[in-house]
This record gives sequence, C-alpha cells and structure tokens, in this order.
Amino acid sequence: MSIEIAPRERVDVVLIGAGVMSATLGTLLRQVDPSLSIVCFESLDRVAAESSDAWNNAGTGHSAFCELNYTPQKSDGSVNISKAIQINQQFQESLQFWTYLVEQGKITCPHEFITKVPHLSFVTTDKSVSFLRKRYEALSKNLLFREMEYTEDKAKIAEWIPLMMEGRDMSRSMAATRVEHGTDVDFGALTRKLFAYLLKGKQSRLFLRHRVTSIGRGKDCRWHVHVKNLQTGRAATVCARFVFIGAGGGALPLLQEAGIDEGNGYGGFPVSGQWLRCVNPEVIEQHSAKVYGKASVGAPPMSVPHLDMRMTGGKKELLFGPYAGFTAKFLKHGSYLDMIKSVRPGNLYPMIKAGLDNVDLTKYLVKEVMQSPQDRLKSLRKFVPNARLEDWELAIAGQRVQIIKSHKEKGGVLEFGTEVIRDSEGSIAALLGASPGASTAVSIMLGMLQKGITVIKPELAKTRLAELIPSFGKKLDQEPGLLDQITAQARAALRIG
Ligand SMILES: Cc1cc2nc3c(=O)[nH]c(=O)nc-3n(C[C@H](O)[C@H](O)[C@H](O)COP(=O)(O)OP(=O)(O)OC[C@H]3O[C@@H](n4cnc5c(N)ncnc54)[C@H](O)[C@@H]3O)c2cc1C
Repeated sequence: MSIEIAPRERVDVVLIGAGVMSATLGTLLRQVDPSLSIVCFESLDRVAAESSDAWNNAGTGHSAFCELNYTPQKSDGSVNISKAIQINQQFQESLQFWTYLVEQGKITCPHEFITKVPHLSFVTTDKSVSFLRKRYEALSKNLLFREMEYTEDKAKIAEWIPLMMEGRDMSRSMAATRVEHGTDVDFGALTRKLFAYLLKGKQSRLFLRHRVTSIGRGKDCRWHVHVKNLQTGRAATVCARFVFIGAGGGALPLLQEAGIDEGNGYGGFPVSGQWLRCVNPEVIEQHSAKVYGKASVGAPPMSVPHLDMRMTGGKKELLFGPYAGFTAKFLKHGSYLDMIKSVRPGNLYPMIKAGLDNVDLTKYLVKEVMQSPQDRLKSLRKFVPNARLEDWELAIAGQRVQIIKSHKEKGGVLEFGTEVIRDSEGSIAALLGASPGASTAVSIMLGMLQKGITVIKPELAKTRLAELIPSFGKKLDQEPGLLDQITAQARAALRIG
C-alpha cells in the first residue's frame, strides 16, 4: 500500500473501490499490458471490507448447480436452462483465470480462498419435486451439468445431508440434486491475494482511506478523479485515461457524478441481508454442503434460502439465510441518505414506476424486516428440523443495490443482475448490481475488455485473454475435450478435485 498521493498526478487507470471487481480487473490488465500505471482508491481502511468480505456474502461459487432461481419454469411446465448454462460458463472462466494465476505462481495457497463443497437443491412438496425432476432431466443432458445426481430416495438424501433429515417428517415427498464438485469461495481472501499480486508490480498503487469525491472530464480529455485522504483531509486530483467505478453500492452516485449520457435514468434499490450463523461446533460438523431451496412467493431472486457450509480462515462454518431487509444505505458503511441523494430528475420516473410495479417485493421486505427470532427459527427449521435458537446468532450481511432503469413501455424496471455502464469511447465504466456477483467477476471484466477500453487495444486483449482463459469466446458445453482438460487442470491447481 502506498502512503501518499501527489496533489496532481497522471496515470493510465484509476480503479475506484478495493473489492473483488477492481481486484479482478487490475489483475487482468496487468496480464494484458504490464506497463499500465494503475492506482486504486478505497475509502475504508482495508481491502474487501464491503460486499466482497467473506461474511458479507454467501461465498457460493455460482455455477447454477443448486440455485433454482436460474432455471425458471415456463408456462408449459418445461424448465428454461439457458441462464443456468450462461452462469456456469461464466464461473468456468473464473476457475480458469484463478488456475492460470496459481499455475504461474502469481497467487499461492488456493485452499485459502476456494474449497470443494457439494452443491445441492432440496425440495419437499409434490409440485416442487416435479419441478426439480424436470430441471434435472433438462440440465443433466448438458455437458456442463453431467455430474449432477438426482434422487427421491430419503435414505440417499439422508446420506448427503444428514443434519437436514434428522427429525424430518418422512411421510412427505422430497427430492434432491447434488453436484459433488461445487465450490465455496472466500471472495475476501481472493481479493486480498489479487491485490497483493497487483501491488508487487511497480506500476500499481493502492491508497486506503481515500474517498473519491467527484469525477469530471478535463480539458486534456482525461478523467479527473478527485480524491480525499480521510486521515489527513488532503485532497488530490488524478487524471486518468481510463476509470473503473468498482465501488459496489457506491458506484451509482459516482456514475451520476461522471455525468455520461449512458448513465442517465439509472437508479438503485438497496436490499440488505442477514444470516443466522451457527455457533455450535457439533452442529457445524454435521453439515458439509451448500443446500439451496425454493424462494417464497414475492421474494426477490437473491433471497432463495440456503444452508451453507463455509470455509473462512481455514475454519469450517455454517450459515443459513439470507433474511432480506431494507435500509436506505447503499453500502454497509454508507449513509442513510444514500438512496434519497441518488434521486435525480432523470431517474425519478423510472424509480416511481419500478416501485409501483414491485409492490410484492415491498410487502416481502416489510415482512422480513418485522421477523422475530422465533420467525427466523421457523424458516431455519424447514432446513434443520431440530435447530435450536441458542446454536445460532444473527449476523449482518452486505448490501446489494439492485438496478432500476428506464424502460420504453413500462417507464421503469427493477433488475436483479449486474450491468456494466460505459461511455461510447470506453474511457469510463461502472459496475452496477450484484448478482450473480463475485463468481462472475472474471466474465464481467472479460466482456468489458472485449468491448474495448481506451487503455487496451481490443485485438491485444483478445489474443492475450485467449491465452489465459482457454474457453474465452467458446461455448464450453459444445467442447467436451476442452471441458475435460480445463476441469482436470482447475481441480489439480486449485485443489478442488
Ligand atoms: C447478502 C449477499 C450475498 C451474496 N452472495 C454471493 C455469493 O454467494 N456468490 C457470489 O458470487 N456473490 C455473492 N454476492 C455478491 C458479491 O458479494 C458482490 O457481487 C461482490 O462482492 C461485489 O464486489 P465489488 O468489488 O463490486 O464491491 P465491494 O466488495 O462492495 O467493493 C466496493 C468497494 O468500493 C469502496 N467504495 C465505495 N465508494 C467509494 C468511494 N467513493 N471512494 C473509494 N472507495 C469507495 C467500498 O468501500 C468497497 O470496499 C452476495 C452479496 C450479498 C450482499
């Protein structure tokens, strides 16, 4: 970490925010062109302290193995698997990039950030069992999901997830799918490793406790990034050829500051989260999987309940949730005025329209916020029938700012994905939204580099990225040989075999 920035500097790249997105982009840029000068500003006193921190997210390496919301059921009863295929391919790109970094010795000790943890879906009503069976039939035909297993056999399910079957009413129908080679990722640990590698290069610097206060286009055609040292109060201006706004929940206000046309009409809707974190080692020991269920009616897609084994700092942990909530903050360390301050003439109408069209979501959030410990226990017992409140404590997760954008017919829509907003030149880009999130950081950045950014020639990016990520630009589910090769390589290098 660097101590002080000069009052006025010129660099190639400014990264705003030291989360997994900036870390991933910085690392990719260093592979494509090591001569680029890169400066990262982070307002907090450590790397990955917001959404990328281990306990602020669930750490699921989203591969669509277990997340039922990625495979919606169509009106004719069939299951649409296109999003699942896309998300799986995206995570495969992350795995390949991390494999490359480990094989090249650029980062070490992969077990400190990634662990093999089986991914399961578990359902209990006749309707859900029929859905899961159809989902399995559709997915297992695809190469990417060939290792998926399905069962309605209760003894088999008890073998897979004993804690969840103890004390359960066995007269009910139930079904589960399992992919043994799922992953748990400590995105905080990964981010710290990526920054440690990035900062080994003389061309990269990180300034903690430095808040970006505004961004504007200078007469020199560079972006002038104004930053305040939160310790000394000193201000500085850094003039950059390319700016990445990887500020998580703080990205929207900075995008608005930059004032690019492409950012018009965007608003944000923050959804907070809470977990129940298990504090009883005997209970933790009994569960070794990530198990996703079905979301309740009106719940936003990212509120699918799940019981997750986690690995953080070499320790096995267990969490259940998320319980959704609402605060007007855009960041966990943000201000209650964040949402109100983000309202502009350009996004007021889309925000009102999106609000009116999502009354179910509002009702759901109000219900979630009003929950008592006993209500939370009731939800937990659907997963762990014998759960006792004293074995679990409440923990606050990170903030997710969902995207609101203008829409021709509807006026405004609320979206649950991620979106990169960039100007036509590719001189500035901001990442909005948070789902599927950190798992797809590599794929998001590849997409951005492919479209072109001012500091990298697209041809150079394409050639170099294809060397780093063998499946780059290919459809992995149609390349059995390649899939076998990269799977074997990733399992060996990342020790997830
Ligand atoms: C409850 C929950 C569960 C999740 N589960 C998963 C999961 O299972 N799997 C998955 O892949 N993803 C998951 N995600 C999503 C994932 O956590 C995020 O997509 C990812 O961490 C976002 O990374 P980021 O770098 O964009 O943001 P962050 O990690 O939030 O980093 C942004 C940084 O920018 C800094 N910053 C903000 N404003 C400024 C400013 N003006 N100046 C300087 N610095 C600034 C912040 O302090 C922060 O450190 C989950 C998220 C939540 C909230």
